[in-house]
Amino acid sequence: MNNNLAFIVTGAGVVLVDSGASMLGAETIESAIRAVTRQPVRWVINTGSQDHRWLGNHYFKQRGATIIAFAATVETQRGFAAQHLERLERILGDRYAGTLPAYADAPLPGESAALELGGEVLQLMRTDAHFPGDSMVWIPRLRTAITGDMAYFDRIMGVHDWSSPANGLAAFRRMKALSPDHMTVIPGHGEPGDLAKAERDTGRYYEFLVDTVGKAAAEMEPLAEVIQNHADMPEFMHLKHYGSWHRVNISRTYLMLEGK
Ligand SMILES: [Zn+2]
Repeated sequence: MNNNLAFIVTGAGVVLVDSGASMLGAETIESAIRAVTRQPVRWVINTGSQDHRWLGNHYFKQRGATIIAFAATVETQRGFAAQHLERLERILGDRYAGTLPAYADAPLPGESAALELGGEVLQLMRTDAHFPGDSMVWIPRLRTAITGDMAYFDRIMGVHDWSSPANGLAAFRRMKALSPDHMTVIPGHGEPGDLAKAERDTGRYYEFLVDTVGKAAAEMEPLAEVIQNHADMPEFMHLKHYGSWHRVNISRTYLMLEGK
């Protein structure tokens, strides 16, 4: 597991944000929580449908937790479940034993929701950035955003055919507006940080993809030239996996925004 998860200890139990990619992972998460509190995990919020966001659900559900996710998230989870399970089983073998998909029983409609447990208010907002139906969690009291795969720190985001950099940029701007002066950001991947780090590692990269690549696509500049002109961008070269993802990201964004 290379992604971030988070949990919040409330007066009425623990809220876990994302459940890991396997039953073994879920057990490991539970012991990490045990080191902090004896309170049970009451809620598991899924911010996405990529394996590492939700395939530990079954474990926590059996232990009495309620799974919480938007209907759009559940729909994408169902769409990708078979291929993610099959791939992880191949890689993990025995260590994948007991892992089963489990979904929210009462998926949340719409694009935002306010929830409260033990006095802690959590705002859930759809981002639809990395996978359709992805969401982020905002905790007003702590001024903390748990972004799911909308934000990547220290490593470069990967744009898939089903990702939307335009939605990512819109979600990033909504996040910034929540508390422009002070905010802690727990990204989907990488070390948590502040808004300045979020801008540096994610926000500006979305702007580059949407504004620069998007404009080139709209003006029908040849894709090969667009890639060549922007292959070396010193402001993003500190991001891990730059070499393997940056050109792919330009290419996929271009094809997505072409003719729009
Ligand atoms: Zn991820």
